[in-house]
Amino acid sequence: MEEKFISRQTLNFLLFEMLEIQKLSEHEYFNEYNKEALDMVLGTANKMAVDLMRPCLREMDKNPPVYKNGTVHVNPVVKTFMRKCGEIGFISAHFPFDDGGQQLPYSIVAAFNYIFAAANYSLGVYPGLTSGAANLIITFGSPEMKKYYTPKMFTGEWQGTMALTEPEAGSSLSDIKTKALPTGEGFYLMKGQKIFISAGTHDGVDNVINLMLARVEGAPAGVKGISLFVVPKLRGDGQGGLVSNDVTCAGIEHKLGYRGSPITQLSMGESDDCRGWLVGEENKGLSYMFQMMNEERVNVGIGAAGIASAAYYDSLKYAEERAQGRPLNSKNPSDPQCAIINHPDVKRMLLFQKAVSEGSLSLALQVGKYIDLKHISSPEDIEKYDLLLEFLTPIAKSYPSENGILSTSTGLQILGGYGYCEDFNLELFFRDSRIHPIHEGTTGIQGQDLLGRKSTMKKGRALELFLNEIKNTINEAEKYNELEDYAAKLDQAVTDFEITARHLLNVASKGDIEVFLADATLYLEMAGIITIAWQWLMQACCAVKQSIICDDDALKKFYNSKVHTMKFFFKYELPRAGMLSEILCDEVILTAGVNEGLFVD
Ligand SMILES: Cc1cc2nc3c(=O)[nH]c(=O)nc-3n(C[C@H](O)[C@H](O)[C@H](O)COP(=O)(O)OP(=O)(O)OC[C@H]3O[C@@H](n4cnc5c(N)ncnc54)[C@H](O)[C@@H]3O)c2cc1C
Repeated sequence: MEEKFISRQTLNFLLFEMLEIQKLSEHEYFNEYNKEALDMVLGTANKMAVDLMRPCLREMDKNPPVYKNGTVHVNPVVKTFMRKCGEIGFISAHFPFDDGGQQLPYSIVAAFNYIFAAANYSLGVYPGLTSGAANLIITFGSPEMKKYYTPKMFTGEWQGTMALTEPEAGSSLSDIKTKALPTGEGFYLMKGQKIFISAGTHDGVDNVINLMLARVEGAPAGVKGISLFVVPKLRGDGQGGLVSNDVTCAGIEHKLGYRGSPITQLSMGESDDCRGWLVGEENKGLSYMFQMMNEERVNVGIGAAGIASAAYYDSLKYAEERAQGRPLNSKNPSDPQCAIINHPDVKRMLLFQKAVSEGSLSLALQVGKYIDLKHISSPEDIEKYDLLLEFLTPIAKSYPSENGILSTSTGLQILGGYGYCEDFNLELFFRDSRIHPIHEGTTGIQGQDLLGRKSTMKKGRALELFLNEIKNTINEAEKYNELEDYAAKLDQAVTDFEITARHLLNVASKGDIEVFLADATLYLEMAGIITIAWQWLMQACCAVKQSIICDDDALKKFYNSKVHTMKFFFKYELPRAGMLSEILCDEVILTAGVNEGLFVD
């Protein structure tokens, strides 16, 4: 029987009943995509996930990429998958027709990335990176660059990467040292080292196009002196062929999870012949790279939601089949054992998994919808969606990442001893999910971004827009008797969040930035819980509304299950926001500025 790792019914509910993505086709930009066309895209993604991706999940984990004589050998399926993604237009899916894309709504791209991640996270990242790198070239590069690089990236023949991290510059990109020496011949000579570069080189593609941050000789220190370059592994020889560009791979890391995709150490210019081509203007590189970083941050959240979904369905199946113990009210030892799904504690764990994975998916698709709305909106509304996206990006990355780990760990717990063993995929999902709070900016960095930048952005306008969106959902929920109490609970949480943000911004105004940002991670956590509660209340509104007009019993059960999961989230998770508010408003400081005697044995 086919393994279940996502629910098409849930995806359809979120995309077409709650977010009404099919209505985008009423606008010229998206008019190629009615509901039937969107269904077909999702069907294709699902088929690829089932037929190609899932069968090699274990195999890619057991036999990770091998580094030999400067070459990184990956599983042959990488090549097949990349080409297939190219062939059916997945790599270029959301790009405009004019740029060689398919002009598909981003919310649908998010949905298929979710399906891919649930099937096999390691394999799903290759085309996503290529798409993000191509977008940087299209947005900021020259027409010649675009013409030369993007067609082969879109076909999956060439891999794209983001090459930022260096041994001494991880979270702190302002310390990047890779050098670019102007030659006056249209290119720069590159020299330096990058580490941890995902898919930085491998034999599943014919070339690798690194979008690399470096410092032009004499550039100012810090972020203001960082530029963006295209640094291919092989460069054009001017006669239609390719020659080595002096980018060598010094090795790959051996990782806890996400093993099917190599992270590489790259060395540029060992033979003083590594050429880089400037993208856009000098010293604006980091601001350009933020486009790709933001896309990838949203993708990380989607990936985390996908793995959490796969873990949930495996745990659910196990809980339905595993007989152990008897109901707590049953006193008779000769009664047959019951399936563990009947134990309240197991139900609680499953509901937690469902709440996290579907709540995170809902947020990812909501973000996708804001991206889509920008294509069909007035300039004023575009600014609104831009600000909402700025505010939501660190949340959409971090909530699924942090809670994805908790939820796969909870799923592993449901399998008891077997969860800890390789007989089932839970241990693999647990290992795979651990990367998400680390790459694309750690949770600590996302917290500082949300509190230090996004909450103060445009005099608090982004924060205000975010809260308004939640208040709109609260107003909608108040129309249904069954949801009134939950609307009130979220309203209270929003008030707590406003008080907390005001308190922290007041701390900032006193000038001690270290105290202001000391617990930014907890502020992010609080924002995340409230955001997911918002998404669940929105789902519940839609489910109640649909249930009223529905006379199909199976469908009514589906809608009830959504409302029940919302209630679960509000009872078990939302109260944590109040506790976080208390910590954040507490005047006692135990970390910032306290250096003496902290870690004495
Ligand atoms: C599997 C994998 C794939 C990756 N893929 C890529 C890729 O494709 N391209 C790429 O460029 N990079 C990639 N990276 C690198 C990744 O983005 C970095 O590892 C990450 O940004 C953290 O940097 P670091 O490892 O140097 O940790 P550090 O920056 O040393 O951080 C260590 C700890 O200190 C905390 N910390 C650091 N600075 C601060 C601060 N100012 N305030 C508060 N806390 C702080 C961090 O939150 C973290 O908990 C990848 C990494 C991995 C493991």
